[in-house]
Amino acid sequence: MPEYMGSCQCGAVQFRVSSRLDHPSRCNCSYCRRAWNAGHYVEMGDFELISGESDLGEHRFGSRTAAHHFCQRCGISVFSQLRWRGEERYVVNLGCIEGFDLLSLTDLPVNDGASYR
Ligand SMILES: [Zn+2]
Repeated sequence: MPEYMGSCQCGAVQFRVSSRLDHPSRCNCSYCRRAWNAGHYVEMGDFELISGESDLGEHRFGSRTAAHHFCQRCGISVFSQLRWRGEERYVVNLGCIEGFDLLSLTDLPVNDGASYR
């Protein structure tokens, strides 16, 4: 499985994901619409926070079941942890992934996060 490194803008928060990142999507919830261009679901064991745990802020809203994590230094939304279709998952902000061509993505599927608030 390919490995990708990711980080917030200032570099305080760094993470690694093991994923092909071949199923990018968008989310229509009130948070992701504002924070992210596109994300990718990652299984719990395929995500590793490498640095910046103490720099992470957490935002919850609605049902408060999803934890949206952002860097408190630079403000970038880095990843979220939530239950999706019965499974605990991370969702990483694809804009934070090194070497991932975010701007080439078109016609992404939209997850109905707005119904899972
Ligand atoms: Zn940062």
